[in-house]
Amino acid sequence: MKELLSDVATRASRYLAGINERSVAPSSEAIARLSELGGPLPDASADPAELLALLDEIGSPATVATSGGRYFGFVVGGALPASLAANWLAGAWDQNAAMQIMSPVAAKLEEIVEAWVVDLLGLPPGTGAGFVTCTTMANFSGLAAARSTLLRRAGWNVEDNGLFGAQPLRVVVGQEVHVSLLRALAILGLGRSRVITVPADDQGRMRADALPPLDGHTIVCIQAGNVNTGAFDPAKEICSRAREAGAWVHVDGAFGLWGAVSPLYAPLVDGFENADSWAVDCHKWLNVPYDSGMVLVREPDNLRRALPTGNAAYLAQSSQREPWQFTPDASRRARGVELWAALRSLGRSGLREMIERNCRLARLFADRLRGAGIRVLNDVVLNQVLVSFGSPEETRRVIAELQADGTCWCGGTVWQNQTAMRISVSSWATTDEDVEGSVEAMIRIAQSVKAC
Ligand SMILES: *Cc1c(COP(=O)(O)O)cnc(C)c1O
Repeated sequence: MKELLSDVATRASRYLAGINERSVAPSSEAIARLSELGGPLPDASADPAELLALLDEIGSPATVATSGGRYFGFVVGGALPASLAANWLAGAWDQNAAMQIMSPVAAKLEEIVEAWVVDLLGLPPGTGAGFVTCTTMANFSGLAAARSTLLRRAGWNVEDNGLFGAQPLRVVVGQEVHVSLLRALAILGLGRSRVITVPADDQGRMRADALPPLDGHTIVCIQAGNVNTGAFDPAKEICSRAREAGAWVHVDGAFGLWGAVSPLYAPLVDGFENADSWAVDCHKWLNVPYDSGMVLVREPDNLRRALPTGNAAYLAQSSQREPWQFTPDASRRARGVELWAALRSLGRSGLREMIERNCRLARLFADRLRGAGIRVLNDVVLNQVLVSFGSPEETRRVIAELQADGTCWCGGTVWQNQTAMRISVSSWATTDEDVEGSVEAMIRIAQSVKAC
């Protein structure tokens, strides 16, 4: 075991040491070689050291270099050194984080991280968290709590009786709602097509003046950090309207909520603390390894009731916080370990500095590109930049050639009918030099596309 783990540490360190020298996207040859990992499962056992060598030789070149400093696709984030190392230790521990009795350390770390994150995000004291895989599941869990609570107030127990026969709930979303939220509505039986959609402004913010009348059987879903522009819905106004009406407000705050940790960006997040539930990603801007997200609910009992565990005789019942009571799953890995390590290694000031640096680098991208006559489509309020290189066809060609060039990686989108390239700066590893080098590649490729 010892030799094997040392060998893996050497291989992983070598991989990371070379990450900024290689093309961000893997070559097509590397992808083609992946089939060498397949074929029929051999009957014979294999030596772990040999198969690790094979995995490294074939697998490593076929990765996308998202842990380097020049990946700006989607909103991905890297893995902080302390969180990666903690993830390895947690792998060795192999803890089942479902219950206190199965892993006291996993349970305790969740409690510690829960308190830290509630404080960092400026959420109401007493807010409770569930440690889930991602924002999609955090949205799912938060909306389950909303569904459960509003129906319970109307005298209906949805966990026992299901939705058939219940008073219908209305769900209000913004025009720029993230697909993951609609996915959660689809699974929860709330329907992704029966939502009431509120128009958005030119930055993608829900227009509070266009909200429909709200009431006690309405769930309003707002967004902190639009996936294209980084814009924030006007939470203050929406939450105060919802509160008066007895409606539930759920926040999709995948990456944007982390803005709360910086005095520079906290004004954008102002008012979101008045919601009832929040979804936030940790594998994005907190830079822990996949997979990691949190659902936060103002009254934790509302979350716990929505995710009933039942009471099989062999399962521990205790008066302590039992981790699995706040997630849709039972057995799961100890996500709190990396979260604790990431937060403890950065400290409050380190986290703030990382968020501020990413946002500053997003503005640097925008300034440099504008300086070269390239159009930036959004107000760069956070870490997201949308760029047009001319016609839709020209923009698509620049994106394809940039990805093939390998200096950096950006994806495409259509933003309010305009084809655009998205730049998301969300990794601790990104430096000024990474941005300057990437801008150079973008300008070079944009000029060559224009020239032909
Ligand atoms: C990324 C993102 C999601 C989905 O997050 P996953 O972790 O991929 O499930 C949801 N909402 C917003 C605004 C996002 O940016």
